[in-house]
Amino acid sequence: MITKLDQNLINKIAAGEVIERPASVVKELIENSIDANATKIIVEIKESGFSLIKVKDNGIGMNNEDAKLSIERHATSKIKDADDLFKISTLGFRGEALASIASISNLSIITKEKDTDTAYNISVLGGKVTDEREVGYEDGTTIEVRDLFFNVPARKKFLKNMGHEFQIIVDIVTRYSLIHPEIFFKLTHNEKNILLCPFADNLKSRILDVYGKEVAKNIIEVNFEQEPYKITGYIGKPFLTRGDTSHQSLYVNTRYIKNNIISSSIYEAYHTLLFKHRHPFVVLSIQIDPTLIDVNVHPTKKEIRINREDEMRDVVFLAIKNALDSKDLFPKIEDKQDRIWVDEVKIEVPEVKKKVEKTVQSELVMSEEKEELNVRILGKVHKCFVILETEDGICLLDQHAADERVNYEKFMDMYMSKNIEVQQLLNPLLLDLSPQENALIEQNLEMFKELGFTIESFGQSSFILRSLPVILRRLQDKQVFLDMLGDLKSIDKTKEAIITSMACRSSIMKGDDLSQTELKNLLLRLEKTKSPYTCPHGRPTKIFMTLLELERKFKRRA
Ligand code: ADP
Ligand code: MG
Repeated sequence: MITKLDQNLINKIAAGEVIERPASVVKELIENSIDANATKIIVEIKESGFSLIKVKDNGIGMNNEDAKLSIERHATSKIKDADDLFKISTLGFRGEALASIASISNLSIITKEKDTDTAYNISVLGGKVTDEREVGYEDGTTIEVRDLFFNVPARKKFLKNMGHEFQIIVDIVTRYSLIHPEIFFKLTHNEKNILLCPFADNLKSRILDVYGKEVAKNIIEVNFEQEPYKITGYIGKPFLTRGDTSHQSLYVNTRYIKNNIISSSIYEAYHTLLFKHRHPFVVLSIQIDPTLIDVNVHPTKKEIRINREDEMRDVVFLAIKNALDSKDLFPKIEDKQDRIWVDEVKIEVPEVKKKVEKTVQSELVMSEEKEELNVRILGKVHKCFVILETEDGICLLDQHAADERVNYEKFMDMYMSKNIEVQQLLNPLLLDLSPQENALIEQNLEMFKELGFTIESFGQSSFILRSLPVILRRLQDKQVFLDMLGDLKSIDKTKEAIITSMACRSSIMKGDDLSQTELKNLLLRLEKTKSPYTCPHGRPTKIFMTLLELERKFKRRA
């Protein structure tokens, strides 16, 4: 028997699409505040958004009738007819966010238009209005979402990593703060400041507030026009890179989007200026006639359809290329702060300086082992693999995987025996991090401490690094610490994962040109590990081919 679902159930079903996680609520509420012309948006989060998401704005507000309507499905003030659908200039238009949120939480809206005396407050629980009243309040709208997913337990169970959920919230607030420097943004978590962006009159000062001095100093302006596109923003000089793409923000008509085709043209424009697997800093805003894009293709609107995507890709390429061509791209090292890390490491290990030019290989050289190898090193292939002759055939070694295994076990042993060698930095290092990274550190201070990083809060939202584990001393600069933080964003933050990441980041890389002595020491150390055949990620360190197999391949044998 077919029955028509009741409206509340319909909303709950729609909520499954629109509201995947706490961050989706934050996104929808911020978009509404921006659409309401707010110049101040304050986001207050408790327990990663599961217990409270509060967004307060000073926008145009709603009258009583509109506030009541706003929680109905397909109720919107942003479009009126089908024509409007193809020239959307607001972030919202589907009229389903508030209805969806209301159906799966305990929601309260307080809202007041400028010219009225009182504000209107409506409370909704699981889609049903529980209270309506007039109250005294400021102009603008405050929306509080409590107990998200209280009636969708399956969803809640699915999202089990609270820390990760909060990271995504920080991410979304950061993205919107970057494209709206003219809006004051504040984000708190359990009453601690995570992001504080005062009004700014240009994107560069907003980038400074969000990412800090070091980033702001090393970015290049993009300003390019070719009908019907206008491309503005900032990109990093080629050395300002990360191990992941979290520092890349792309907007079309101020909507934060992801688009692989456009992103790839950015990398093309950098061409050989980037090292492999490095990702440049990018904040890029593309303005285009709204009739040339379709924003109504995805329930959460994070993907859009672009009519002339290839053309847009080419224009982005030109915009980036132009910006890169116009600048001298070398690092600026005026500020002593930048170099402290490097100096520090070198001061503490002066012998390393003397002995090899490349710090990264120092340890393998310093402690030359007296033992003999049971294999003969025949040569290196593309600074990545090593060919060895063994008693009964040949062996190929992956130098990175091998060193990673060595470092992983060494560090794991130190950790298990609570014997991590720690190196104090003479001049503690101020960590100039993104809000997301600050939150990550904040959540894991204890764990970092156990692993040898002494990190202390400094001011509202910065940290100072006072010590680091000696295993990381060979690293050239703080890039590696930042890359490790990057790894933590995407994985479960178990200690083992951090140790794996540390081992990986501190190991010899593909491309490091090892000497015979270094190769020998690497092999000897690998032999002493408990699992010499795989790296901590489970990839092989060595592959073998016996004489028998070789003979078969050459058809000397059947
Ligand atoms: P949409 O944004 O797609 O229109 P929503 O469900 O997000 O749908 O919001 C419904 C309507 O509620 C909006 O069209 C707008 O008129 C009103 N509204 C929501 N949030 C705010 C706000 N912060 N300030 C003023 N009006 C708002
Ligand atoms: Mg909306």
